[in-house]
Amino acid sequence: MTTPDTFARLDVVVQDVTGRDGFQNVAPWIPTEVKLELLRGIAGARVPWLEVTSFVHPKWVPQLRDAEDVCAGLAADLGVAPGAPRPVLSALVPNARGVARAAGRGIDAVSLTISASEAHARANLNRGRAELLDAAGDAIAAAREAGLQMRGGVATAFGCPIQGDVPLADLAWVVGRYAELGLRVIRLGDTTGMAHPRQVREAVTALRAEHPFVTFVLHLHDTRGMGIANAVAGVEAGLRHLDAALGGLGGCPFAPGASGNVDLIDLVHAAEEIGWRTGIDLDALIALGRRLPDLTGLQADSRVLVAGKRNDLAGRDALREDGSVAAQLRG
Ligand code: ZN
Repeated sequence: MTTPDTFARLDVVVQDVTGRDGFQNVAPWIPTEVKLELLRGIAGARVPWLEVTSFVHPKWVPQLRDAEDVCAGLAADLGVAPGAPRPVLSALVPNARGVARAAGRGIDAVSLTISASEAHARANLNRGRAELLDAAGDAIAAAREAGLQMRGGVATAFGCPIQGDVPLADLAWVVGRYAELGLRVIRLGDTTGMAHPRQVREAVTALRAEHPFVTFVLHLHDTRGMGIANAVAGVEAGLRHLDAALGGLGGCPFAPGASGNVDLIDLVHAAEEIGWRTGIDLDALIALGRRLPDLTGLQADSRVLVAGKRNDLAGRDALREDGSVAAQLRG
């Protein structure tokens, strides 16, 4: 397992959610071997944390019905070079039954998700937030018993497609309940890409001040083009953990209009250009991203895959051939 020492050397801990959020809403079946090839590629690129699948009922998310097989495949071969640090592996679980399915499969951590929006919680699960939080105690106890770290996820943390604005007080209430239940890693999910940078800055600043011993994770969707800006705002407000998915895949099957996660390649590129060490092999990720359409039939929504890295100068090779800037300008 990647030790906290490994994380300490990183300015930003980028967490890949391709295997769960990236795939969960894809209707055509992605073969387990293809999922494994992508996840091994991501782990091999030294991404320090991977959420690889979800132990929800297959009726709700049929694409992830191979959760056990994915875990077994990664336990056999994680795609990490000998001697390289092993990434932390996590999975989403809906309840104690999900925890039981995840236990003993090489998974280090599991995550619960509860909406900050009462309307979203009721629409998805037909239960209110308080009731869901009461039930979370069983799952947390099961995780403790199984030796799995439990993380608390908050959906619609910055806005809800049903309710609209979600007051910071509502988000803070769910975070506070998680903290009371003993959780020390809490993920703030912008489920349908409604967050904006000022809102992220204010929320992260307030929550960190109230819960100095909690590690906060930002889970951002780029639905409206604000994903990277929100990530930067979150890091500038003091958090270090950011979720992303290869090729910007993803979306919530229960949130109409939700589109992909922040793209893993664009996020790592932005962080490294700013000077925030991620420890990730960006070139390996770019090579993997180029293979995504062939492997899955899905398009990669990645700016860097289209334009190249900031220092991949498009005119450089042409200039070398001609030797003249003037010829370039004439062209
Ligand atoms: Zn998501």
